[in-house]
Amino acid sequence: MTTKRPPTALEKMGLNSPMALALHLPSRYEDETELFTIEEALGLGRFHSIQTQGIVIRNQVMFRPRRQLLVTIEDDTASLQLRFLNFYPSQQKQMAVGAHVRVRGEVREGYQGAEMVHPTVRAVPPDSPLPASLTPVYPASAGVSQAIIRKAVLQALRDASLKESLAEFLPPKLMAAILPTNDWPPLQDAIAYLHQPPADANTQSLLERTHPAWRRVQFEELLAQQISLKRAHAIRRERRAPSFAKTAQKTTSIEDGLLKVLPFELTGAQARVWSEIGFDLSNTFPMNRLLQGDVGSGKTVIAALAAARAMDHGYQAAIMAPTEILAEQHYLKMQEWFGPLGVKIAWLSGSLKAKEKRLAQEMIESGDAQLIIGTHALIQDKVSFAKLGLAVIDEQHRFGVRQRLEIQQRVGSELFYCHQLMMSATPIPRTLAMTYYADLDVSVIDELPPGRKPITTKVVKASRRDEVISGLHDWLAKGLQAYWVCPLIEESEVLQLQTAVESFEQLTQALPTFKVGLVHGRLKSEEKAAVMAAFKANEIQLLVATTVIEVGVDVPNAALMVIEHAERFGYAQIHQLRGRVGRGSADSVCILMYAEPLSMAAKERLQTLRETSDGFVIAERDLSLRGPGELLGAKQSGDAMLRFVDLQRDAWLIELAQTAAGRLLAEHGDLVERHLERWLGSRTEFLKA
Ligand code: ADP
Ligand code: MG
Repeated sequence: MTTKRPPTALEKMGLNSPMALALHLPSRYEDETELFTIEEALGLGRFHSIQTQGIVIRNQVMFRPRRQLLVTIEDDTASLQLRFLNFYPSQQKQMAVGAHVRVRGEVREGYQGAEMVHPTVRAVPPDSPLPASLTPVYPASAGVSQAIIRKAVLQALRDASLKESLAEFLPPKLMAAILPTNDWPPLQDAIAYLHQPPADANTQSLLERTHPAWRRVQFEELLAQQISLKRAHAIRRERRAPSFAKTAQKTTSIEDGLLKVLPFELTGAQARVWSEIGFDLSNTFPMNRLLQGDVGSGKTVIAALAAARAMDHGYQAAIMAPTEILAEQHYLKMQEWFGPLGVKIAWLSGSLKAKEKRLAQEMIESGDAQLIIGTHALIQDKVSFAKLGLAVIDEQHRFGVRQRLEIQQRVGSELFYCHQLMMSATPIPRTLAMTYYADLDVSVIDELPPGRKPITTKVVKASRRDEVISGLHDWLAKGLQAYWVCPLIEESEVLQLQTAVESFEQLTQALPTFKVGLVHGRLKSEEKAAVMAAFKANEIQLLVATTVIEVGVDVPNAALMVIEHAERFGYAQIHQLRGRVGRGSADSVCILMYAEPLSMAAKERLQTLRETSDGFVIAERDLSLRGPGELLGAKQSGDAMLRFVDLQRDAWLIELAQTAAGRLLAEHGDLVERHLERWLGSRTEFLKA
């Protein structure tokens, strides 16, 4: 019989088995293998930790400038002061006059000469032996001491079960064929080494995690991930989805009709991705494809073509967008394109009145609606599709992780699995696509429609606001339009609205001969639509907006954008915002106004944004700054999927792991389960989102 007891502090950190402890690897090391005389320490101990020892000759609590403990130790060579700003009575006792102590810390210049502040102290006899290995420092949560973790790890490393769990089972032949060098130790040795590196270990490569022992661990972790990605791929191919091949026999297909209605020719890049997607749609297993293309590259028409293909086969297509404005924009566009072809389109969003919503749901359920456009409301339980063949998810990374999982579950629960097309203007760096996205095919539109002009970006201090406004006046006087984007205030929507209203009023006064409009998140959707329509019709020349215009708005005559407090926006947001201009024949300008003081990070961000408008460069910067979790919208989860791998530093390892995973699956299927279990355990579900 087992009795329930509260989890220990270690268990709360997830360290609940010998294996978990063995994989809890140090974040750094302390060198206690060397001992210096006090005189040497005084010379060598600046800016890095050093170990010395001596006899306590003074122990005094001082009250000026605040309560603190001052201790002086001495050996044959010199004396050294130790200063403790917080201390326990037990420490005071440990360092009683006459005691012999060994201390570790940095030496710095204090008011009364050289001293160590808060050194680590151990009361040991002068001749007590030095450890043979570096001392690991582990990641720990508050209240869990290093001593406790070290002890638990040491015990775990001796546990008999580890022999089994860390056993070497990757076939040596396969490893030899794949690995670039043969200096990687076996897994169990690598882990033992990382916990207890010998005194002469290369500490630099240990800290930078480039040591062969680290490489071995990183490779194993990546291997598990690559295996699970490849398996997801195999599983998808087992599923069935309706095959939408290009219909040759129909003379009046919606697809051909759409191509005739379009006021432009597809660019080369659009034609290429459409053929990739068209091929996927003709398969009998569900498509799972991401369409990447910079802002304004023309992804919408590709979604429309895919929808047309599904509808030509008698299936429904759904297009889902993360915000109402964006979804609405799609709705209007699709009406424009498909309306003349007699396609029945339903609109569903959270803000519809109950009766409208019910009507839309009935249309969807009866199959009367061929094309369904809406927000996240589309995947709510009440909506059931008569015959869904294709789901398009626009700006998919802007949906939260939870919503993405919901979408997966929903789409996966249809009678047939349907084809899925995700679209994103935020490029996913290749390393990220290769590691985090389970089984995803990627198509890229790497060419903008013809006639686009590059955008000139200027970075301007907020104190030059008057100059900016007078430039704005000249701009509008040329018959052009402009956006004025108000700062994002994450803490308060009310405050954000307030500053938008203030800017609106100021600009209305400063530009009396022009019509200024205001759009923000609190407006009802009809009101928003009315303002946007007026702006599109050039009845409004200057549109003051909060970030609601971030995605999707399309007004070619508006080629100037001013962004207030640009320092508060992230890379992706500014990149997206800026994508709104540069769509017409006029030269486009984006003015990033910032308020001082500017942090180093913000300064670098604005500078990068001024220098490049290449979405891939910006996404890479974003990745190195924020880490992949946040880029994927997984920030909340707190679950780092790769613990030991850094996607930037270790990118080259990913390809090795990919090759190894392929061969392992093909030649050693029996080992695959064991490897996955070892590394991923319960985390596999999350990887699918
Ligand atoms: P995004 O990829 O950002 O969603 P959109 O699909 O909204 O871009 O397209 C941006 C603009 O470019 C729209 O006005 C669209 O009609 C236009 N467009 C798309 N493809 C072409 C093309 N091949 N030639 C000319 N204009 C195009
Ligand atoms: Mg778009």
